[in-house]
Amino acid sequence: MAKVLDSKIPAGPVPEKWKEYKAHQRLVNPKNKLKLDVIVVGTGLAGASAAASLGEMGFNVINLCIQDSPRRAHSIAAQGGINAAKCYQNDGDSVYRLFYDTVKGGDYRAREANVYRLAEVSNNIIDQCVAQGVPFAREYGGMLANRSFGGAQVSRTFYAKGQTGQQLLLGAYSSLSCQVNAGKVKLYTRYEMEDVVIVDGRARGIIAKNLVTGKLERFSANAVVIATGGYGNTYFLSTNAMGCNCTAAVQCYRKGAFFANPSYVQIHPTCIPVHGDKQSKLTLMSESLRNDGRIWVPKKIEDAKALQAGTKQGWEIPEEDRDYYLERRYPAFGNLVPRDVASRAAKERCDKGFGVNNTGLAVFLDFSESINRLGLDVIMQRYGNLFEMYEEITDVFPGDVANEINGVKYYKPMMIYPAIHYTMGGIWVDYELQTTIPGLFAIGECNFSDHGANRLGASALMQGLADGYFVLPYTIQNYLADQSIWGKVPTDRPEFEEAEKAVDAELTRLLNIKGKRSVDSIHKELGHIMWEYVGMGRTAEGLKEGLKKMHELEKEFDTNLFVPGTKEGLNVELDKAIHLRDFFTMGQLVAFDALSRNESCGGHFREEYQTEEGEAKRDDENYFYVGCWEYKGKGNEPELIKEPLEYEAIKVQTRNYKN
Ligand SMILES: Cc1cc2nc3c(=O)[nH]c(=O)nc-3n(C[C@H](O)[C@H](O)[C@H](O)COP(=O)(O)OP(=O)(O)OC[C@H]3O[C@@H](n4cnc5c(N)ncnc54)[C@H](O)[C@@H]3O)c2cc1C
Repeated sequence: MAKVLDSKIPAGPVPEKWKEYKAHQRLVNPKNKLKLDVIVVGTGLAGASAAASLGEMGFNVINLCIQDSPRRAHSIAAQGGINAAKCYQNDGDSVYRLFYDTVKGGDYRAREANVYRLAEVSNNIIDQCVAQGVPFAREYGGMLANRSFGGAQVSRTFYAKGQTGQQLLLGAYSSLSCQVNAGKVKLYTRYEMEDVVIVDGRARGIIAKNLVTGKLERFSANAVVIATGGYGNTYFLSTNAMGCNCTAAVQCYRKGAFFANPSYVQIHPTCIPVHGDKQSKLTLMSESLRNDGRIWVPKKIEDAKALQAGTKQGWEIPEEDRDYYLERRYPAFGNLVPRDVASRAAKERCDKGFGVNNTGLAVFLDFSESINRLGLDVIMQRYGNLFEMYEEITDVFPGDVANEINGVKYYKPMMIYPAIHYTMGGIWVDYELQTTIPGLFAIGECNFSDHGANRLGASALMQGLADGYFVLPYTIQNYLADQSIWGKVPTDRPEFEEAEKAVDAELTRLLNIKGKRSVDSIHKELGHIMWEYVGMGRTAEGLKEGLKKMHELEKEFDTNLFVPGTKEGLNVELDKAIHLRDFFTMGQLVAFDALSRNESCGGHFREEYQTEEGEAKRDDENYFYVGCWEYKGKGNEPELIKEPLEYEAIKVQTRNYKN
């Protein structure tokens, strides 16, 4: 019999579900809750906010991260902003509209009830962060300022210059520190979770590696929450921080947690193009730049060829010879179409030969019009640090005048190209954010819950903080309420013993391969396979070829890897080898999911399924479900289990950003 997933969504109309849910949940007896321990793995915006909130509610929290401080979690990289339905601009925004935009932006593949809850708590997040002192940008009169992000026709993005993630993380960190000081949160920095420990079918603890001493340690608790981020680095080159990995999530998957929608990977349209094969990182230019920057390529192929040969510069091409292709194709949303749409449109132009740099894989992002209209000062106030970042990397300052044609000043444009950025897929969770393993919860980017097949800009921070501050602290209590009588499991139980031995054996195995190839050289090759066969444009044939190549490369990893050093002490190469082992599992999972989904939706684009205009063609009759995967052992194909989607408030239709 087919397995059926219970998403635990309460009955009733969508807007009422969350309210009813909160009203009916069982609250933990305050006497008991003080005895309950929760492990929170991760100190990004999701993890730090959850750990701080749980601590404040009286739980004993063990909080771990791989960095030397929670403040260095990858969330710090977030630039552009965070969405909320405050409607401060009086432009017709509402909870319903944010809910609708998010479901539509996700190409109707998100769980409707979850998205409604997300939109509803979005406003609380802004209040919470303002109370913490997060310095959001303000209007002259003192009101919080907003800007627009893709997929929305209202201004609902709150921001702190181009450093929103950093400022939000400092806010969450101050709450976390308060709980550390109060003795409710015990922080373990430079610790990496290597395995989850299951006792009698429930998550009861973890095995973590002290990254400085190399020692494995056991942690026991009544529940485990993972908030360990996404799997974008499977592709090697991405906008993610170098340390981002999916080891904790993949290990939970190996232990029985289902992995949902892995093929939904977001490719961000505005990244600095790849410039050589020695690169290990790509840099994002925030989507916020699309508020004032216009994206274009030349209309004439001879101009494109001259740009590629370096005999012409962008600013020498006059207005009438520029093709603002997003404005042309999507007049209603223009440069602010969602990321999947903008990325595909850039690829389409470059595939046709209109790319503007020496590799032919770049388009222009130009501020000439907005600087001429608003002045450089205003543009610098909005994007100053992004302009400086771009200059540091490329030696081109986008605010420099380069030419004047017919009295119009032309500034040096940025060059951008799509790159791997975010992963909508993740560990499957029910409405309470619990995985298929009782007692194991997943929050933030590492779960799959809210974005469907494509995430709208500025919605990741919203989801991470919604999960951490406002959802998990309520829902986890339903699980913990029954757990208080059991107490904590001692760490000398055989389940802990076995899990630790297995982790230790893996470390020994990797060190003993003693082959000839470094971790990075194999990872880079995996990245090439992922980008080539499982990237922006996928075909059944290409995906099968990609899977074959991944199997071969995994064999090379298992037989020809070289990891220097020992298990004892700091060994960064060994840590990276563990991550790469799990990127292999992840890469194959992405390909399996992409192969099984014979449609195009959001970030998943199967070239066989597109309209005549090159837009994604969904198949709602056959693929209107969450694809959940169950691990079946190394080298075996995982099993697909479907969670059917049910929409009652929103009419499922074809996305339209043209009018
Ligand atoms: C360049 C860039 C800009 C972005 N800008 C925006 C934006 O403007 N707006 C927006 O909404 N979103 C943005 N995003 C997306 C957003 O930043 C992320 O989705 C979000 O910060 C993820 O938060 P998180 O808490 O889920 O995970 P992370 O911030 O990735 O944190 C993961 C945590 O888990 C820990 N960890 C990982 N593995 C382990 C392990 N095995 N053991 C122990 N600890 C572990 C890490 O130490 C870290 O503390 C951006 C992303 C990038 C890359």
